[in-house]
Amino acid sequence: MAFQLPPLTYGNDALEPHIDAMTMQIHHDKHHAAYVTNLNKALEGNDAAGWSIEEICKNISKFQVAVRNNGGGHYNHSLYWSVMKPGGGGSPKGALLDAITANLGSFEKFYDAFSAAGTTRFGSGWAWLIVNADKKLAVTSTPNQDNPLMDVVEVKGTPILGMDVWEHAYYLKYQNRRPDYISAFWNVINWDEVALRFNAAMK
Ligand code: MN
Repeated sequence: MAFQLPPLTYGNDALEPHIDAMTMQIHHDKHHAAYVTNLNKALEGNDAAGWSIEEICKNISKFQVAVRNNGGGHYNHSLYWSVMKPGGGGSPKGALLDAITANLGSFEKFYDAFSAAGTTRFGSGWAWLIVNADKKLAVTSTPNQDNPLMDVVEVKGTPILGMDVWEHAYYLKYQNRRPDYISAFWNVINWDEVALRFNAAMK
């Protein structure tokens, strides 16, 4: 069963003005689609048939680099589309906010740490909010299409929020101004989805 490109659950222009329609269209229909195509190609004849993308990431050291790059690309982008929504932003509530406060100091400190993780990631990569093995929240970042599920990364955990800081995520609207894209990203975060992922990871 080949992996498939999940459709966006909102229009390409739904995150305007924070993320522009052309960026969303190319990012989803071209970049993410290519990760899926190349992941399926890389897995042809492999005995990982039937594995979920999460299982593949957790065992990524067993695979060739094309699976690491494209499987990471597929997992990461699927998460990214889901943790954004039109009219998003604001701040989390309930148990997730309590955990952010307990583990990361405050929402403001988390905001600064997550933004800095994206700003200071050299080259292409991702910023993450994860639940680690001790069921604590942590902020981390990974290069390229690596993610915290992978058995090869330094800081491991279950991602509940991911921000793409590859230039293809922002260059058409923000050019070299990655910090402006990161500021805008906070206005589209789907905190309901992040809370669902938090609750699942805490079980
Ligand atoms: Mn991307």
